[in-house]
Amino acid sequence: MTMPSPKHPIPEASTEELRSELMESLEYHKGRLAAAASQDDEISHAMLNRSERTVEQIEAALERIEIGEYGLCDTCGDWIGIDRLNALPHASDCTVCASAPTRNQRFAR
Ligand SMILES: [Zn+2]
Repeated sequence: MTMPSPKHPIPEASTEELRSELMESLEYHKGRLAAAASQDDEISHAMLNRSERTVEQIEAALERIEIGEYGLCDTCGDWIGIDRLNALPHASDCTVCASAPTRNQRFAR
């Protein structure tokens, strides 16, 4: 992977805050996951899928903080806009890739 500009969108000082925010969110979604897993109906199944995906994204975001790549788009490797990260701290791709049709193809299989 080619390295983008070295400018990190997240100030070093707020990494801790970001991490605890993600950890909190991870606990919340894991709780939802456990709750949904104990139910056997269609709504719970849909919720289960969504929560599973969110948990994966949060775990990936935490991992990216560790390796200093937090805020990098999974798809194009460019920095994800700070506005998007503020709105969705575990975002794994930038607004361009998130709205690109290739994303649907990626998850359609
Ligand atoms: Zn992208």
